Formats: sequence, C-alpha cells, structure tokens
Amino acid sequence: MTAYSAVTREVVRDLERLLGAHNVAVDPEKLASYSRDEVGLQFWDREYRAEVLVFPESTGHVSAVLAYADSRRIPVTPRGAGTGLSGGAVPAFGGIVMAFDRMNRILDIDLENLTITAEPGVVTAEIQAAAARHGLEYVGDPCSGDASFIGGNVAENAGGNKVIKYGTTGANVLALEVVLPSGKVTWFGGKRRKDVTGLNLVHLIVGSEGILGVVTRVVLKLVPRQEKVVDLLVPFSTVEEAIALVPRVMREVKLIPSSLEFMDRNSLSIVSRYLGSRLPYQEAGAHLIIQLEGNDEEVLSDQYERVGDLCFENGALEVFVADNRNFRDQIWKTRKNIAEAIIVLYTKYAKEDLVVPTSKIPSLLESVSEACRRYSLEAVNYGHVGDGNIHVNLLVDESCEDWHEAIEGARRDLYLATRELGGTLSGEHGIGLKRKAYLGMFLDDTQLEIIRGIKRVFDPNLILNPGKIVDL
Ligand SMILES: Cc1cc2nc3c(=O)[nH]c(=O)nc-3n(C[C@H](O)[C@H](O)[C@H](O)COP(=O)(O)OP(=O)(O)OC[C@H]3O[C@@H](n4cnc5c(N)ncnc54)[C@H](O)[C@@H]3O)c2cc1C
Repeated sequence: MTAYSAVTREVVRDLERLLGAHNVAVDPEKLASYSRDEVGLQFWDREYRAEVLVFPESTGHVSAVLAYADSRRIPVTPRGAGTGLSGGAVPAFGGIVMAFDRMNRILDIDLENLTITAEPGVVTAEIQAAAARHGLEYVGDPCSGDASFIGGNVAENAGGNKVIKYGTTGANVLALEVVLPSGKVTWFGGKRRKDVTGLNLVHLIVGSEGILGVVTRVVLKLVPRQEKVVDLLVPFSTVEEAIALVPRVMREVKLIPSSLEFMDRNSLSIVSRYLGSRLPYQEAGAHLIIQLEGNDEEVLSDQYERVGDLCFENGALEVFVADNRNFRDQIWKTRKNIAEAIIVLYTKYAKEDLVVPTSKIPSLLESVSEACRRYSLEAVNYGHVGDGNIHVNLLVDESCEDWHEAIEGARRDLYLATRELGGTLSGEHGIGLKRKAYLGMFLDDTQLEIIRGIKRVFDPNLILNPGKIVDL
C-alpha cells in the first residue's frame, strides 16, 4: 500500500499561495460535507475525511495543485456535486478534495458544429437549458440532473432516462481537456464526429471515475430538439407483462422511444409517502413510462396509438397519455424522486445498479425477492428498463442491529444471480469505493491487471482518487 504525506499547515499555506486563500478551506464542517456523496455515511465502516478543500477557478489552478500534490505524494480526490452513488468522491485516503463548484461556466455554444463546451462544474440541467434556448438538445438526462455536474457525469459515464435512444454521457462527449496527475494539460478528441487516430482516449477517460485524470473542459454533442413529446403511463398487473412489452415496441411499432422507464409497486408506495401524491393504479404490479418524441403531431399520435394498442395486447390495465405539461411533470417528478425518497425515509439500505439482458429482468427480480426473503429485507425496484438497468434498493428495518451483514449477504447473492443471467455489477453508478470488493466477480485477473496497468501509466505515484475501482 502506498504511504501518503499528511496535509500540514505548510501544505495549506502552499495551496493558498497557488490558488489564493479564498479558494482553500479547512473549516471542519465544510470538510465533512465535502467528504461524502449520496451513498450515505452509515454505509461505511469508518469515517473518511478530507484534510483540505481546494476550489480551483481555472485549468491552471488544477494543474498547479496536481503537480504540487504529485511531488509530495498527497492524495487528491476530484469532486463534482457529490450526488454519486458509489463513493467515488469520498476521499478514501484523506488529503485534498478538489471541488469544481467555481469552474462553472458554459464557454461556447457552437451552432455551426452543434456542440457545447463547458467547465466541469456546470450543473447538467444548465447545459440542457442552454442548448434548449437555441432549439437544440443535450440528451444526457440523469435523474440527478438538477444537481449533478457535467464533470461528474463524464467521470461516471452517467446514464439516465434517454440512454435507450441516445446512449450514455460518453456517446455525447466529443472532446475533453484533461489534467494528468503530473499537472500536464492535454486535450483528447475534438469537435469532430469521427476519429480513429490512435486509441480512443476520450472514452478511456469517460467513466474512469476520476482515477486517471481531472476533466477541466468538456465538449458535448447537441442534437435538434424535438418539438412534440408525449409520455404514456402504463400500469400492468405483473412485472412480466410490463417487461415483455419492451422489445415488442421496438420490433413491432418500429421505433425507439426516447425513454422507457419502470417502477414497481414498492417504488410508487415509497415515493408517494415522500411526495404526498399518487399516480393512477398506484397498487398495480408495475408501471412503465414510455416517452415518444417527434416534430409532426399526426405521426406522433399515430405512433402512440400503436404503442397503446400493443400495451393493451400485453395486458395493460390502462394507458394514460400525458400530452400536457402538468401530467407529464407529475409522472417525471414521481419517477425522478424515488432515489431521493429512499435516502430521506431510510437510513439502512443499499442502492444497487444491476444490468441484465432485458429479457432476464423478471428472473433478476425473482432473485431479488429470494434474497429479501433469505435476509428479511424489503426491495424497491425501478429503473431504465429499456437498457436492462434496474436499480435494486435493499431496505432494512430500522430496528435491525446487524444490518451490514444482511445487506452484504444479499448483495453477494444478487451479484451471483446477475452474473448467471449474463449481467453486470453497475450500469451507470460506477464502482468507486462501494463496489470495489466485488469487481473480481465480474472481471477476471487479466482484465483487472490491465486496469491497474492503465492506472499506473496515467498516475505512477498513485495520487489521484486512490482507493477507487481497484487496489494497487
Ligand atoms: C437522486 C439521484 C438520482 C440519480 N440518478 C442517476 C441517473 O439517472 N443516472 C445516473 O447515471 N446516475 C444517477 N445518479 C448518480 C449521480 O448523480 C451520477 O453519477 C452523477 O453523474 C454524479 O455527478 P456529480 O457531479 O455529483 O459527481 P460526484 O458524485 O461529485 O463524483 C462522481 C465521480 O466523478 C469524479 N469526478 C467529479 N468531477 C470530476 C472531474 N472534473 N474530473 C475527474 N473526475 C471527476 C469523482 O472523483 C467521483 O469519482 C443519481 C444520484 C442521485 C442522488
């Protein structure tokens, strides 16, 4: 294990010289709040705490701090908005937390090349809004988009609600400015749609969870904004009926919805407790949200009628057409608040992020029920069903003392079942600190050694976000 240097008063003074005193903080409350993400403190078996916070205002600041930390072997953990669900922004070895709150400018909207260039601390929803003002769309749409930063989205290769049609964050990143742990600044990619010049280093950085380099500028693809959007809310008696619909929509109506989301009965029950509102057929076994978009009203209404017919053929209890703002907002508010409802209403839980081939979702959910029976847990299942990505939330009764044991037992059983079904450990929330111990169940020794080798090439002194994804 690498020995790291502590952050002394002298280090703090040096950082203040590099960034200005107003961009450096050691106040204990601030240190605590910038040392956690949305995994929740109770999940960890110890407290992780930054020793100093830095708030760079420019690429030059990032470069100066990294070069300094590298020369002194001080760990640096990059941090976006801290909405991560894998402990990625938690400073596992203390040291410096580098927070991007003050690198929050949109630098350029290029209407000739349909791109937007931003600093890493811009909130995802601000990127969406800026594109919309020009009749364009940034299609990255994680449910945390009102808070998460674009740098965090890139580092996690965030998914969200539109992946089925437009791909994950990575599919929409054209170029990145990256500062390596040595302090060297480089660009990967460019404002171009094709590039096979050398290896694809843009997509090595995307999803690398801040262990290879620090992203300081992001160039994203924009697409024309579709003028008409319709959401169908479709309750089914059983999960099986709901899931069987997914490939039929694409095969038989011959379209890819812009969203295809799933919520089980427990999801609706918990989110309605949190929001104090209910969706129709609240007690149904499963609800799907199917979003269609286009520019031609007639074409769109023909499409949603065909999808609606197919829903009824598949046993839908009703098909609600949300073609007005209020109902659409209610549906999406419900869907987007499930994760938050769990965080607020429970203290003992694990939020999982499993992916299986879509046809295997019912089998996965059967394994979830078995694990819950075995360990006396309750599950809330929802997610991006069009991508086979189910957020399985294992909830423990508040009175349970040995809850970590129950959770770990259930996680292991579920991971084994997921592997059997041809699935994997995380679809969009990442490995970070939370899932690291289980990575070996899904990647073999050769693959793990390749990851370690790449880490050593980028970060020979192992200062950048140590303790994440793999141990070295
Ligand atoms: C209610 C809720 C809903 C969510 N919904 C979704 C969803 O639909 N889809 C989805 O994919 N995720 C979702 N998430 C998870 C989370 O929001 C995403 O992973 C998001 O992309 C994290 O962004 P952040 O700015 O909060 O990053 P943080 O949590 O601060 O950091 C995440 C990782 O990125 C690294 N990082 C941050 N900035 C940089 C940088 N500039 N350079 C290099 N590394 C960096 C950090 O070191 C860390 O490893 C949800 C979370 C919550 C709480």
